[in-house]
Amino acid sequence: MIDLHAHSTVSDGMLTPAELVQHAANSGVRVLALTDHDDIGGLAEARHAAVQQNMHLINGVEISVTWNKRTLHIVGLKINPDDEVLKSALAGVRAGRVERARKMSQGLEKSGIYGAFEAASQYAQDSILTRMHFARFLVEKNYAKDTKSVFKKYLVKGKPGYVEHEWMSLESAVSLIKNSGGVAVLAHPGRYEIKRTSMLLLLEEFRALGGEAIEVVTGSHTPAQYVEYAKYAQLFGLKASQGSDYHGHGISFMGMGRLPALPAQCQPVWLNWPEVLSLDTVGASH
Ligand code: AMP
Ligand code: MN
Ligand code: MN
Ligand code: MN
Repeated sequence: MIDLHAHSTVSDGMLTPAELVQHAANSGVRVLALTDHDDIGGLAEARHAAVQQNMHLINGVEISVTWNKRTLHIVGLKINPDDEVLKSALAGVRAGRVERARKMSQGLEKSGIYGAFEAASQYAQDSILTRMHFARFLVEKNYAKDTKSVFKKYLVKGKPGYVEHEWMSLESAVSLIKNSGGVAVLAHPGRYEIKRTSMLLLLEEFRALGGEAIEVVTGSHTPAQYVEYAKYAQLFGLKASQGSDYHGHGISFMGMGRLPALPAQCQPVWLNWPEVLSLDTVGASH
């Protein structure tokens, strides 16, 4: 019923913001956060559609961050979509993506794959250029059978299409979100492949900077990781979030409206949110 992480065509999702809201409503979601990568340009359209669907839209974003040479994603929930400081900072992050995509394409050329930049741009149209757009091109050309294997073969560290990139600092991302009235959430911590000591360091620093929650239930976590990150949240006094990280049919880890419940010891990030409190009465009448 509550899905706090999803993408539209404004970043690397397959559905337009309005289509995404419609799909979420059809899947039983009542509170949805649109969290496009480094862009909040889809929120107005999503809000309009959510009103029509009698659904609650949470204004969100997923900011790309570099922390100790690693790429992390920080989700901002309840940010102000009219915040000019946030908007221009995100525009700066997006600008760097074009040059990065050109370098990725050059890397692929060395493996005999040509035209990746142009093809990825076609998939992306007006949206930001992401590795997901390269993945779609590579799958279409049969370089791998699906997005998952294409990433492994071409788009992760050490592979021909991977390029080191400096994203926003953790400090800037958290403070931009907070100054915009939002809640900073560490996205899919189980995906970072970092050792326990680094994870402890990251959570300590994230909390000290004003981070408030971590994603415990997310499409790319295993059930064992739900338990593991529920423990981390408890250890650091951080709240827990949940979201599908939906990108579109066939390219997502998990569909919408199918999220398992947070482990019992978690304090949900939405505990006092009016959007969720009002659901109880709606739910009871159904
Ligand atoms: P970028 O921000 O350009 O590095 O693109 C990252 C996006 O690629 C993520 O937001 C995911 O949508 C997707 N992605 C990253 N790693 C994987 C993976 N191993 N399998 C499938 N999709 C992935
Ligand atoms: Mn993505
Ligand atoms: Mn992410
Ligand atoms: Mn995401």
